[in-house]
Amino acid sequence: MTFDVKFLETRKSELEKRREEILRELNADTVQGDGNDFSAKFEDYGDKEDENAAEVVDFEKNLSLEKTLEISLFNVDKALRKIDEGNYGLCESCAKPIDPKRLEAFPSATACMDCKRKSL
Ligand SMILES: [Zn+2]
Repeated sequence: MTFDVKFLETRKSELEKRREEILRELNADTVQGDGNDFSAKFEDYGDKEDENAAEVVDFEKNLSLEKTLEISLFNVDKALRKIDEGNYGLCESCAKPIDPKRLEAFPSATACMDCKRKSL
């Protein structure tokens, strides 16, 4: 174990709070599907041409928001699982512990700064 219990508990409560926020945003802008699979909401404004165009624009907005939120949710869930499994905070590429300051700023980080920089 690389991090102390208090550090992990703080990260865990942050991640759980973040998870609730993501779920709230997903439910506000999209239609919930099975489990963590969400679908973007398609609103029906009417049958006129400009109404149809607005429907498509808003649907695309919801779709990209949904994708972003889904990825965030996936990473948050993964981090929470790692806390339970006892391998939280280890870089997925080089297996070295991630800088605690980075985890404080970004609790769902999965790579250390060195590997992150290399992958960019
Ligand atoms: Zn690394």
